[in-house]
Amino acid sequence: MEIKELEKVEQGVYARVTQLGHEQVVFCYDEPTGLKAIIAIHNTVLGPALGGTRMWNYANEQEALTDVLRLSRGMTFKASISGLNLGGGKAVIIGDAGKMKTEAFLRRFGKFVNSLGGKYYTAEDVNMKTADMEYISMETRYVTGLPESMGGGGDPSPVTAYGVYMGMKATAKKVFGGDNLAGKKIGVQGVGQVGAHLVEYLVKENAKVFITDIADAKVKSLAQQYGVTGVDGDSFYDLDMDIYAPCALGATVNDETISRLRCSMIAGAANNQLKDELKHGYKLLDHRIVYAPDFLINAGGLINVYNEYLGNYNRERVFQQAEKIYDTCLSILNVAEREKISSQEAAIQLAEKRIAEMALIRTSR
Ligand code: NAD
Repeated sequence: MEIKELEKVEQGVYARVTQLGHEQVVFCYDEPTGLKAIIAIHNTVLGPALGGTRMWNYANEQEALTDVLRLSRGMTFKASISGLNLGGGKAVIIGDAGKMKTEAFLRRFGKFVNSLGGKYYTAEDVNMKTADMEYISMETRYVTGLPESMGGGGDPSPVTAYGVYMGMKATAKKVFGGDNLAGKKIGVQGVGQVGAHLVEYLVKENAKVFITDIADAKVKSLAQQYGVTGVDGDSFYDLDMDIYAPCALGATVNDETISRLRCSMIAGAANNQLKDELKHGYKLLDHRIVYAPDFLINAGGLINVYNEYLGNYNRERVFQQAEKIYDTCLSILNVAEREKISSQEAAIQLAEKRIAEMALIRTSR
Protein backbone atom coordinates (compact mmCIF):
# COMPACT_ATOMS: atom_id res chain seq x y z
CA MET A 1 0.00 0.00 0.00
CA GLU A 2 1.26 3.47 -0.86
CA ILE A 3 2.43 5.52 2.15
CA LYS A 4 0.11 8.43 1.41
CA GLU A 5 -2.82 6.10 1.07
CA LEU A 6 -2.13 4.76 4.54
CA GLU A 7 -1.75 8.22 6.03
CA LYS A 8 -4.84 9.74 4.59
CA VAL A 9 -7.07 7.12 6.14
CA GLU A 10 -8.38 8.85 9.20
CA GLN A 11 -8.43 6.17 11.82
CA GLY A 12 -7.22 5.33 15.24
CA VAL A 13 -3.96 3.67 16.11
CA TYR A 14 -5.55 0.24 16.54
CA ALA A 15 -7.06 0.33 13.06
CA ARG A 16 -3.70 1.24 11.56
CA VAL A 17 -1.89 -1.48 13.46
CA THR A 18 -4.36 -4.19 12.47
CA GLN A 19 -4.56 -3.04 8.83
CA LEU A 20 -1.21 -4.62 7.97
CA GLY A 21 -1.63 -7.50 10.41
CA HIS A 22 0.77 -6.46 13.18
CA GLU A 23 0.98 -8.44 16.41
CA GLN A 24 2.28 -5.74 18.70
CA VAL A 25 3.39 -2.12 18.52
CA VAL A 26 5.23 -0.57 21.44
CA PHE A 27 5.47 3.18 21.98
CA CYS A 28 8.53 4.06 24.06
CA TYR A 29 9.16 7.34 25.84
CA ASP A 30 11.87 8.42 28.24
CA GLU A 31 11.66 11.95 29.58
CA PRO A 32 15.24 12.49 30.86
CA THR A 33 16.87 11.57 27.54
CA GLY A 34 14.03 12.72 25.27
CA LEU A 35 13.87 9.28 23.66
CA LYS A 36 10.78 8.62 21.56
CA ALA A 37 10.76 5.29 19.76
CA ILE A 38 8.25 2.92 18.23
CA ILE A 39 8.94 -0.81 18.03
CA ALA A 40 6.68 -2.71 15.62
CA ILE A 41 6.44 -6.48 15.74
CA HIS A 42 4.67 -7.63 12.61
CA ASN A 43 4.76 -11.41 12.76
CA THR A 44 6.57 -13.95 14.94
CA VAL A 45 5.27 -17.22 13.49
CA LEU A 46 8.68 -18.15 12.09
CA GLY A 47 10.74 -16.86 15.00
CA PRO A 48 11.59 -13.70 16.93
CA ALA A 49 11.02 -10.48 15.02
CA LEU A 50 14.34 -9.15 13.76
CA GLY A 51 14.81 -5.80 12.09
CA GLY A 52 16.98 -2.74 12.37
CA THR A 53 16.39 0.49 14.20
CA ARG A 54 16.10 3.60 12.05
CA MET A 55 16.63 7.06 13.50
CA TRP A 56 14.98 9.82 11.50
CA ASN A 57 13.76 13.36 11.99
CA TYR A 58 10.19 12.52 11.01
CA ALA A 59 7.92 15.44 10.13
CA ASN A 60 5.30 14.05 12.52
CA GLU A 61 4.41 10.97 14.54
CA GLN A 62 2.04 9.63 11.86
CA GLU A 63 4.93 9.48 9.42
CA ALA A 64 7.07 7.60 11.95
CA LEU A 65 4.28 5.11 12.61
CA THR A 66 3.69 4.59 8.88
CA ASP A 67 7.38 3.95 8.34
CA VAL A 68 7.77 1.43 11.14
CA LEU A 69 4.58 -0.44 10.18
CA ARG A 70 5.61 -0.80 6.53
CA LEU A 71 9.22 -1.64 7.26
CA SER A 72 8.41 -4.31 9.84
CA ARG A 73 5.95 -6.00 7.47
CA GLY A 74 8.68 -6.02 4.81
CA MET A 75 11.00 -7.78 7.26
CA THR A 76 8.45 -10.56 7.76
CA PHE A 77 8.41 -11.25 4.01
CA LYS A 78 12.18 -10.91 3.68
CA ALA A 79 12.88 -13.46 6.41
CA SER A 80 10.22 -15.86 5.18
CA ILE A 81 11.23 -15.88 1.53
CA SER A 82 14.87 -16.33 2.49
CA GLY A 83 14.00 -19.47 4.46
CA LEU A 84 15.10 -17.94 7.77
CA ASN A 85 13.46 -18.81 11.06
CA LEU A 86 12.80 -15.20 11.90
CA GLY A 87 9.79 -12.98 12.16
CA GLY A 88 9.48 -9.38 11.04
CA GLY A 89 10.03 -6.34 13.20
CA LYS A 90 11.50 -2.90 13.05
CA ALA A 91 12.05 0.10 15.31
CA VAL A 92 12.15 3.81 14.62
CA ILE A 93 13.57 6.49 16.86
CA ILE A 94 12.11 9.94 16.28
CA GLY A 95 14.62 12.79 16.26
CA ASP A 96 17.85 14.25 14.97
CA ALA A 97 20.53 11.55 14.98
CA GLY A 98 23.26 14.18 14.81
CA LYS A 99 22.14 15.85 18.04
CA MET A 100 20.23 13.42 20.26
CA LYS A 101 22.28 10.24 20.36
CA THR A 102 24.11 9.94 23.67
CA GLU A 103 25.18 6.90 25.66
CA ALA A 104 22.19 7.30 28.02
CA PHE A 105 19.77 7.77 25.10
CA LEU A 106 20.95 4.61 23.35
CA ARG A 107 21.12 2.54 26.51
CA ARG A 108 17.58 3.60 27.43
CA PHE A 109 16.49 2.35 24.01
CA GLY A 110 18.36 -0.89 24.75
CA LYS A 111 16.31 -1.26 27.94
CA PHE A 112 13.08 -0.95 25.96
CA VAL A 113 14.28 -3.64 23.54
CA ASN A 114 15.21 -5.81 26.51
CA SER A 115 11.78 -5.39 28.07
CA LEU A 116 10.33 -7.40 25.17
CA GLY A 117 12.23 -10.45 26.39
CA GLY A 118 13.62 -11.53 23.02
CA LYS A 119 10.46 -11.17 21.00
CA TYR A 120 12.25 -8.42 19.07
CA TYR A 121 15.93 -8.33 18.08
CA THR A 122 17.34 -5.07 16.84
CA ALA A 123 20.16 -4.23 14.40
CA GLU A 124 21.53 -1.23 12.50
CA ASP A 125 19.56 0.78 10.00
CA VAL A 126 19.60 4.35 8.69
CA ASN A 127 21.52 6.68 11.05
CA MET A 128 22.41 3.89 13.46
CA LYS A 129 25.99 2.71 13.47
CA THR A 130 27.84 -0.29 14.85
CA ALA A 131 29.08 1.87 17.74
CA ASP A 132 25.45 2.64 18.70
CA MET A 133 24.72 -1.10 18.75
CA GLU A 134 27.55 -1.49 21.25
CA TYR A 135 25.78 0.89 23.68
CA ILE A 136 22.45 -0.83 23.11
CA SER A 137 24.10 -4.19 23.77
CA MET A 138 25.10 -2.98 27.24
CA GLU A 139 21.42 -3.17 28.19
CA THR A 140 20.18 -6.10 26.14
CA ARG A 141 21.42 -9.24 24.48
CA TYR A 142 18.67 -8.99 21.88
CA VAL A 143 20.85 -7.09 19.45
CA THR A 144 22.71 -8.04 16.26
CA GLY A 145 24.95 -6.11 13.88
CA LEU A 146 27.78 -5.99 16.37
CA PRO A 147 31.38 -5.51 15.22
CA GLU A 148 33.47 -8.57 14.45
CA SER A 149 35.64 -7.78 17.48
CA MET A 150 32.56 -8.43 19.66
CA GLY A 151 31.72 -11.72 17.93
CA GLY A 152 29.32 -10.06 15.50
CA GLY A 153 29.06 -10.26 11.74
CA GLY A 154 30.32 -6.73 11.08
CA ASP A 155 29.25 -4.69 8.07
CA PRO A 156 26.37 -6.45 6.24
CA SER A 157 26.70 -4.36 3.05
CA PRO A 158 29.12 -6.66 1.17
CA VAL A 159 26.72 -9.59 1.71
CA THR A 160 23.75 -7.47 0.65
CA ALA A 161 25.61 -6.44 -2.51
CA TYR A 162 26.45 -10.07 -3.30
CA GLY A 163 22.80 -11.09 -2.92
CA VAL A 164 21.70 -8.25 -5.18
CA TYR A 165 24.31 -9.33 -7.72
CA MET A 166 22.94 -12.90 -7.58
CA GLY A 167 19.38 -11.65 -8.02
CA MET A 168 20.46 -9.47 -10.91
CA LYS A 169 22.14 -12.38 -12.66
CA ALA A 170 19.08 -14.61 -12.17
CA THR A 171 16.82 -11.90 -13.59
CA ALA A 172 19.20 -11.41 -16.51
CA LYS A 173 18.95 -15.13 -17.25
CA LYS A 174 15.18 -14.80 -17.43
CA VAL A 175 15.25 -11.63 -19.53
CA PHE A 176 18.24 -12.09 -21.83
CA GLY A 177 18.47 -15.89 -21.86
CA GLY A 178 21.84 -15.94 -20.07
CA ASP A 179 23.20 -14.58 -16.83
CA ASN A 180 26.46 -13.17 -18.15
CA LEU A 181 26.44 -9.42 -17.56
CA ALA A 182 29.41 -8.65 -19.81
CA GLY A 183 28.59 -5.74 -22.08
CA LYS A 184 25.24 -5.06 -20.37
CA LYS A 185 24.56 -1.37 -19.74
CA ILE A 186 23.77 -1.12 -16.02
CA GLY A 187 22.76 2.07 -14.20
CA VAL A 188 23.49 2.01 -10.47
CA GLN A 189 21.65 4.74 -8.57
CA GLY A 190 23.31 5.37 -5.21
CA VAL A 191 26.87 4.24 -4.67
CA GLY A 192 26.93 4.08 -0.89
CA GLN A 193 27.91 1.02 1.10
CA VAL A 194 25.94 -1.49 -1.00
CA GLY A 195 26.07 0.29 -4.37
CA ALA A 196 29.85 0.59 -4.35
CA HIS A 197 30.31 -3.14 -3.65
CA LEU A 198 27.82 -3.96 -6.39
CA VAL A 199 29.75 -1.82 -8.88
CA GLU A 200 32.86 -3.84 -8.09
CA TYR A 201 31.08 -7.12 -8.98
CA LEU A 202 29.68 -5.63 -12.19
CA VAL A 203 32.99 -4.20 -13.33
CA LYS A 204 34.69 -7.55 -12.70
CA GLU A 205 32.17 -9.09 -15.07
CA ASN A 206 32.88 -6.45 -17.73
CA ALA A 207 29.47 -4.81 -17.60
CA LYS A 208 29.20 -1.24 -18.88
CA VAL A 209 28.41 0.58 -15.64
CA PHE A 210 26.85 4.04 -15.19
CA ILE A 211 26.60 5.51 -11.71
CA THR A 212 24.79 8.40 -10.10
CA ASP A 213 24.70 9.73 -6.52
CA ILE A 214 23.79 12.99 -4.84
CA ALA A 215 27.27 12.82 -3.28
CA ASP A 216 29.48 13.94 -6.18
CA ALA A 217 32.65 12.91 -4.38
CA LYS A 218 31.53 9.25 -4.31
CA VAL A 219 30.80 9.30 -8.05
CA LYS A 220 34.18 10.84 -8.83
CA SER A 221 36.08 8.44 -6.65
CA LEU A 222 34.38 5.31 -8.02
CA ALA A 223 34.66 6.56 -11.61
CA GLN A 224 38.39 6.90 -11.08
CA GLN A 225 38.78 3.59 -9.28
CA TYR A 226 36.82 1.43 -11.74
CA GLY A 227 36.62 3.48 -14.94
CA VAL A 228 32.80 3.60 -14.75
CA THR A 229 30.79 6.54 -16.10
CA GLY A 230 29.27 9.14 -13.77
CA VAL A 231 25.81 10.38 -14.80
CA ASP A 232 23.75 13.37 -13.74
CA GLY A 233 20.84 12.46 -11.41
CA ASP A 234 18.18 14.28 -13.49
CA SER A 235 18.93 12.48 -16.75
CA PHE A 236 19.53 9.11 -15.11
CA TYR A 237 16.05 7.68 -15.78
CA ASP A 238 16.31 8.52 -19.50
CA LEU A 239 19.58 6.66 -19.88
CA ASP A 240 19.91 3.97 -22.53
CA MET A 241 20.41 1.08 -20.09
CA ASP A 242 19.57 -2.63 -19.97
CA ILE A 243 19.39 -2.84 -16.20
CA TYR A 244 18.36 -0.28 -13.59
CA ALA A 245 19.79 -0.93 -10.12
CA PRO A 246 18.14 1.28 -7.46
CA CYS A 247 20.56 1.36 -4.52
CA ALA A 248 19.65 4.67 -2.87
CA LEU A 249 16.10 5.35 -1.74
CA GLY A 250 12.71 3.67 -1.93
CA ALA A 251 9.74 4.61 -4.16
CA THR A 252 11.89 5.42 -7.20
CA VAL A 253 9.76 3.10 -9.34
CA ASN A 254 6.62 5.16 -9.83
CA ASP A 255 4.31 6.58 -12.53
CA GLU A 256 6.79 9.21 -13.61
CA THR A 257 9.91 7.04 -13.75
CA ILE A 258 8.29 3.97 -15.33
CA SER A 259 7.26 6.04 -18.32
CA ARG A 260 10.84 7.27 -18.72
CA LEU A 261 12.76 4.04 -18.09
CA ARG A 262 14.06 2.23 -21.17
CA CYS A 263 15.58 -0.74 -19.38
CA SER A 264 14.48 -4.39 -19.66
CA MET A 265 14.84 -5.18 -15.96
CA ILE A 266 15.19 -3.67 -12.50
CA ALA A 267 17.32 -5.23 -9.76
CA GLY A 268 18.72 -3.26 -6.85
CA ALA A 269 19.26 -3.01 -3.10
CA ALA A 270 16.89 -0.25 -2.02
CA ASN A 271 13.94 -1.17 0.19
CA ASN A 272 10.38 -0.52 -1.02
CA GLN A 273 11.40 0.39 -4.57
CA LEU A 274 7.82 0.26 -5.88
CA LYS A 275 6.00 3.40 -4.76
CA ASP A 276 2.75 1.47 -4.82
CA GLU A 277 3.44 -2.25 -4.44
CA LEU A 278 0.40 -3.41 -6.37
CA LYS A 279 -0.08 -0.72 -9.00
CA HIS A 280 3.55 -0.29 -10.01
CA GLY A 281 4.26 -4.02 -9.95
CA TYR A 282 1.63 -4.39 -12.68
CA LYS A 283 2.63 -1.22 -14.50
CA LEU A 284 6.11 -2.70 -14.92
CA LEU A 285 4.49 -5.82 -16.40
CA ASP A 286 2.65 -3.61 -18.93
CA HIS A 287 5.94 -1.93 -19.84
CA ARG A 288 7.66 -5.31 -20.20
CA ILE A 289 10.19 -4.47 -17.52
CA VAL A 290 11.05 -7.48 -15.36
CA TYR A 291 11.36 -6.63 -11.68
CA ALA A 292 13.49 -8.54 -9.17
CA PRO A 293 11.53 -8.20 -5.87
CA ASP A 294 13.58 -5.94 -3.61
CA PHE A 295 12.91 -7.72 -0.31
CA LEU A 296 14.12 -10.97 -1.85
CA ILE A 297 17.33 -9.84 -3.52
CA ASN A 298 18.46 -7.43 -0.78
CA ALA A 299 18.11 -10.07 1.95
CA GLY A 300 21.90 -10.61 2.21
CA GLY A 301 22.13 -8.18 5.13
CA LEU A 302 19.42 -10.05 7.01
CA ILE A 303 21.08 -13.38 6.24
CA ASN A 304 24.23 -11.90 7.74
CA VAL A 305 22.62 -10.85 11.03
CA TYR A 306 20.62 -14.09 11.18
CA ASN A 307 23.89 -16.01 11.24
CA GLU A 308 25.14 -13.72 13.97
CA TYR A 309 21.96 -14.40 15.96
CA LEU A 310 22.44 -18.18 15.52
CA GLY A 311 26.01 -17.97 16.86
CA ASN A 312 29.30 -19.39 15.51
CA TYR A 313 29.28 -16.76 12.79
CA ASN A 314 31.01 -17.91 9.62
CA ARG A 315 31.41 -15.42 6.77
CA GLU A 316 31.89 -18.09 4.10
CA ARG A 317 28.63 -19.81 5.09
CA VAL A 318 26.84 -16.46 4.97
CA PHE A 319 27.92 -15.86 1.37
CA GLN A 320 26.87 -19.40 0.43
CA GLN A 321 23.41 -18.70 1.82
CA ALA A 322 23.21 -15.37 -0.01
CA GLU A 323 24.05 -17.19 -3.24
CA LYS A 324 20.74 -19.06 -2.98
CA ILE A 325 18.98 -15.79 -3.82
CA TYR A 326 19.79 -16.65 -7.45
CA ASP A 327 17.61 -19.78 -7.48
CA THR A 328 14.78 -18.28 -5.45
CA CYS A 329 14.66 -15.23 -7.70
CA LEU A 330 14.57 -17.28 -10.88
CA SER A 331 11.83 -19.52 -9.54
CA ILE A 332 9.69 -16.52 -8.51
CA LEU A 333 10.08 -14.92 -11.93
CA ASN A 334 8.96 -18.20 -13.50
CA VAL A 335 5.92 -18.42 -11.20
CA ALA A 336 5.01 -14.80 -11.97
CA GLU A 337 5.18 -15.50 -15.69
CA ARG A 338 3.16 -18.69 -15.42
CA GLU A 339 0.47 -17.18 -13.18
CA LYS A 340 0.46 -13.88 -15.07
CA ILE A 341 0.99 -11.90 -11.86
CA SER A 342 3.60 -9.33 -10.92
CA SER A 343 6.87 -10.67 -9.54
CA GLN A 344 6.29 -8.67 -6.34
CA GLU A 345 2.95 -10.37 -5.85
CA ALA A 346 4.46 -13.80 -6.57
CA ALA A 347 7.18 -13.15 -3.99
CA ILE A 348 4.70 -12.01 -1.33
CA GLN A 349 2.50 -15.05 -1.98
CA LEU A 350 5.46 -17.37 -1.52
CA ALA A 351 6.50 -15.62 1.70
CA GLU A 352 2.95 -15.76 3.06
CA LYS A 353 2.58 -19.42 2.10
CA ARG A 354 5.60 -20.43 4.18
CA ILE A 355 4.30 -18.49 7.19
CA ALA A 356 0.84 -20.08 6.87
CA GLU A 357 2.36 -23.57 6.62
CA MET A 358 4.65 -23.04 9.60
CA ALA A 359 1.72 -21.68 11.62
CA LEU A 360 -0.06 -24.99 10.98
CA ILE A 361 2.98 -26.98 12.09
CA ARG A 362 3.00 -25.01 15.32
CA THR A 363 -0.55 -25.93 16.15
CA SER A 364 -0.55 -29.52 14.88
CA ARG A 365 0.42 -32.38 17.18
P1 NAD B 1 24.09 4.26 2.03
O1 NAD B 1 23.48 5.38 2.82
O2 NAD B 1 25.48 3.84 2.34
O3 NAD B 1 24.06 4.62 0.46
C1 NAD B 1 23.00 5.26 -0.15
C2 NAD B 1 23.60 6.16 -1.21
O4 NAD B 1 22.55 6.74 -1.96
C3 NAD B 1 24.41 7.32 -0.63
O5 NAD B 1 25.68 7.38 -1.27
C4 NAD B 1 23.56 8.55 -0.94
O6 NAD B 1 24.35 9.71 -1.18
C5 NAD B 1 22.85 8.10 -2.20
N1 NAD B 1 21.61 8.82 -2.47
C6 NAD B 1 20.67 9.27 -1.61
N2 NAD B 1 19.68 9.88 -2.26
C7 NAD B 1 19.97 9.79 -3.58
C8 NAD B 1 19.32 10.20 -4.77
N3 NAD B 1 18.15 10.86 -4.72
N4 NAD B 1 19.91 9.93 -5.95
C9 NAD B 1 21.10 9.28 -5.99
N5 NAD B 1 21.76 8.86 -4.91
C10 NAD B 1 21.20 9.11 -3.73
O7 NAD B 1 23.08 3.05 2.15
P2 NAD B 1 23.36 1.53 1.81
O8 NAD B 1 23.66 0.81 3.07
O9 NAD B 1 24.29 1.42 0.66
O10 NAD B 1 21.90 1.06 1.36
C11 NAD B 1 21.38 1.40 0.10
C12 NAD B 1 19.94 0.98 0.01
O11 NAD B 1 19.83 -0.43 0.21
C13 NAD B 1 19.03 1.60 1.08
O12 NAD B 1 17.76 1.80 0.53
C14 NAD B 1 18.96 0.53 2.15
O13 NAD B 1 17.76 0.63 2.90
C15 NAD B 1 18.98 -0.73 1.31
N6 NAD B 1 19.51 -1.89 2.02
C16 NAD B 1 20.75 -1.87 2.54
C17 NAD B 1 21.24 -2.99 3.20
C18 NAD B 1 22.64 -3.02 3.78
O14 NAD B 1 23.13 -4.11 4.11
N7 NAD B 1 23.32 -1.89 3.92
C19 NAD B 1 20.44 -4.14 3.31
C20 NAD B 1 19.17 -4.15 2.73
C21 NAD B 1 18.71 -3.01 2.09
